[in-house]
Amino acid sequence: MLQKLACLLLFISALSQAQQLPEHSPVPGGVAIIDVTEYMPFYEASFNDNPVFIFESEGKTTAIVGLPLNTSPGSVGGTLRLKQTNGDVFVAIPVEDKQYREQRLTITNDRQVNPNQEDLERIRGESAQMSTAFSSWSEPEEPVTFFNVPTVGITSSSFGFRRFFNDQPRNPHSGMDIAADEGTPIYAPAAGIIVDTGNYFFNGNTIILDHGYGLITLYCHMNEIDVEVGRQVEAGEQIGKVGQTGRVTGPHLHWSVNLNKVRVDPALFID
Ligand SMILES: [Zn+2]
Repeated sequence: MLQKLACLLLFISALSQAQQLPEHSPVPGGVAIIDVTEYMPFYEASFNDNPVFIFESEGKTTAIVGLPLNTSPGSVGGTLRLKQTNGDVFVAIPVEDKQYREQRLTITNDRQVNPNQEDLERIRGESAQMSTAFSSWSEPEEPVTFFNVPTVGITSSSFGFRRFFNDQPRNPHSGMDIAADEGTPIYAPAAGIIVDTGNYFFNGNTIILDHGYGLITLYCHMNEIDVEVGRQVEAGEQIGKVGQTGRVTGPHLHWSVNLNKVRVDPALFID
């Protein structure tokens, strides 16, 4: 059994040699890359009760942990929990402060800023459906730890911006906006499985793509969706086209990255 496990680890390690990891950025909304080799063997890793991405490479075991935007900075910003056969080990994650910029946007359709009762019911249902998709967990043989940019355009808004719509405070920006002409192709930034598609109130035409081990990406405001739920896509495969469906001020791709059920900064996963 142990030999089998060792073989498997060697196999994973051979596959992932020199594989690029996300940038270590232990801030609210960032990603902490933590060497946990000294705590091996452990059979489960979690952060805020959600399973954590554990990556094996060249004899080193690394936890890739998404830190929520509402994390309080400090020497113990969060705690990684590792389950060993004879008990749990808790690893403190120091978190540094980060001040995100403010962004003010004008939306002409007021219902997209102040939804009515009917809209609110729709939004609740959609948010439950998306939250189920974000709970997906798959374990591909080749772990994805890095992305290609999913479309060609200009970054028009970054992750974490403190947002005001028509001068009213709303949730911080949960992804990266790439402005491009309507119809510009959107490509899978890495291999994965399509776990949700739909037309949502705020997000417009949307795809959710599961890359494995809790790493899940979201594509919004598309004019066209080219894939269906359950489809395995390869890196570089076209999944849709840029549009301006949902709450937008112009055509763009809103791209979010989720890790252990936390929205993190997509910029940490690309060159
Ligand atoms: Zn956006």
